Amino acid sequence: MPKIQTLPDILISQIAAGEVVERPASVLKEVLENSLDAGSRSIQIHLEEGGAKLIRVIDDGCGIEKEDLALAFTRHATSKIHSLEDLETVETLGFRGEALASIASVARLSITSRATNSQQAWKLVGSADAQLEPAALMGGCIVEMRDLYFNTPARRKFLKSAGTEFAHCQEVIKRVALAHPEAAFSLTHNGRNHFQWAPGNLAQRLQAILGDEFMDHSREVLADGGILSLHGAIIDPTYADSIKDQTYTFVNGRFVRDKVISHALREAYRDVLHGSRQPSVCLFLSLDPSAVDVNVHPAKTEVRFRDSRAIHQFVFHSIQKALTSLAVPKNIAAPTTPPQLHQERQDSAPQFSTPYPPQHHYRTQQTQLEIQQPRQNERYYDFVAIPESTKSQFPPMGFAIGQLQGVYILAQTENGLIVVDMHAAHERIVYEKLKAAIDAQSIATQTLLIPITLQADTLKIATIEEHQETLLGMGFELGLAGPEEIVIRAIPALLQGGNPAKLVDTVLKELGEQGFSNTSTARRDELLATIACHGAVRANRQLSPPEMNALLRQMEETERAGQCNHGRPTWFALSMAQLDAMFLRGR
Ligand code: ADP
Ligand code: MG
Repeated sequence: MPKIQTLPDILISQIAAGEVVERPASVLKEVLENSLDAGSRSIQIHLEEGGAKLIRVIDDGCGIEKEDLALAFTRHATSKIHSLEDLETVETLGFRGEALASIASVARLSITSRATNSQQAWKLVGSADAQLEPAALMGGCIVEMRDLYFNTPARRKFLKSAGTEFAHCQEVIKRVALAHPEAAFSLTHNGRNHFQWAPGNLAQRLQAILGDEFMDHSREVLADGGILSLHGAIIDPTYADSIKDQTYTFVNGRFVRDKVISHALREAYRDVLHGSRQPSVCLFLSLDPSAVDVNVHPAKTEVRFRDSRAIHQFVFHSIQKALTSLAVPKNIAAPTTPPQLHQERQDSAPQFSTPYPPQHHYRTQQTQLEIQQPRQNERYYDFVAIPESTKSQFPPMGFAIGQLQGVYILAQTENGLIVVDMHAAHERIVYEKLKAAIDAQSIATQTLLIPITLQADTLKIATIEEHQETLLGMGFELGLAGPEEIVIRAIPALLQGGNPAKLVDTVLKELGEQGFSNTSTARRDELLATIACHGAVRANRQLSPPEMNALLRQMEETERAGQCNHGRPTWFALSMAQLDAMFLRGR
């Protein structure tokens, strides 16, 4: 039996580095967090070759005293906590005291710093026991990391291309910068300027990072539940599917990926956002630090809540509330200009006090037309006033009088005109029918007269094997026709008429990516919404009058027919009175 030995310190750090220093972006994250913990308001970042060759961060924080410089390089040396109580209430981003030591063990690290009120700057290169050198610096810190993994070539091999590593670094900067709009950030890569974000408020930072499109189509969330609070901005459901998904969630100022929060988000957006997508949001959850354990993961991107159910409910309800108030587009009458989140862009002094500026509001355009809109979860006929005496003659959605540009169905009702987006409406109908049939385990299948074969990659083939039963339950009968070929024998009867190969391809892709289980209704519904989108009539298909009327009758029988699965309205009504008013016609 070999003798038991304690490991040398450098080796311990290198082992720890395996968890903390995954790639250049993780080094950058630790260094940026240290700058923010030190109270910096201006942070300059210089990278070379995706950060693998150089990461240099210059900050204007409190700096490190000469006698503490060596300690900064030492494992388990931190200025941030002193006791277990401190750990339970920690408010700084770092506290484990291992980041710099880990980085120093796998790269060439140097720190130059001049602490506030000290006469001189000092520099330490390499390790805790190196000689301190006097240096020139006005204040703050310069942390420089060169040649990541120069001494661990096996690890170096895992680094991706400079472009990929740089993309990860940018993502890290975005996360940190969103949580700290009060600090300025600038970035250069290989000597080229990438951005410069001025200090400001959250809205200004969101604008810089998530872009104008997000700002124009999002709304503020401000929910205060006493010990819990949530603030930030979320995408309007109408745009949730068309705008690139960028999901940023923070707990007590720390970017986290948390199952509880993301599940609550998906649940709240469920039925308006389909597919495997996350809605674009930037949300900050704040709670008593003792109610959340941040020390679950070395990189601290995961947390554990003491009462995750309460968190789930709070996030879900806050978001759902914000979404419901958005469910009705305010100005269908102005189709080219959807509701806009209007921000007076200010160039004046930045605000630090409020997280989101009070001048943020919806610009409500006043138009002369007041158009009835179906509200989510309410039956559309609550909104179409049909005189009691004639109710029997006209069905609520009226009778089709024609098809406009292959997109809309025009229908005459008892007291006016209804315009229906036929694809959106049909999609909702198919979706609700699929849900009902699968719930009742009575999905009708259509066996194809001639089975269709299609090429499929290994993931899709594995998906068929793994989810055979689920697929059958949804009405898909699939098999293997070769090592890279599958055969479609039957599809759900509801979806015949579409393109079975494309449909199956999408189903397998989504199923392979996100899995599917009957216990998770939300996930299942996402998949069904995607399927419904494929199965629904496409725009530009000519419908016969009986087909149009059939669609109108189906809408009358479908729950939530007022919105398609992506949250767009499916129809609106114009009453005779409104038409008369348009033509200045007194009656
Ligand atoms: P932790 O952040 O967990 O305390 P680190 O290894 O990241 O551990 O840093 C060790 C210590 O070095 C910190 O506790 C802090 O006192 C000091 N330090 C690191 N970077 C900076 C900085 N940019 N400005 C001021 N102090 C810093
Ligand atoms: Mg740290």
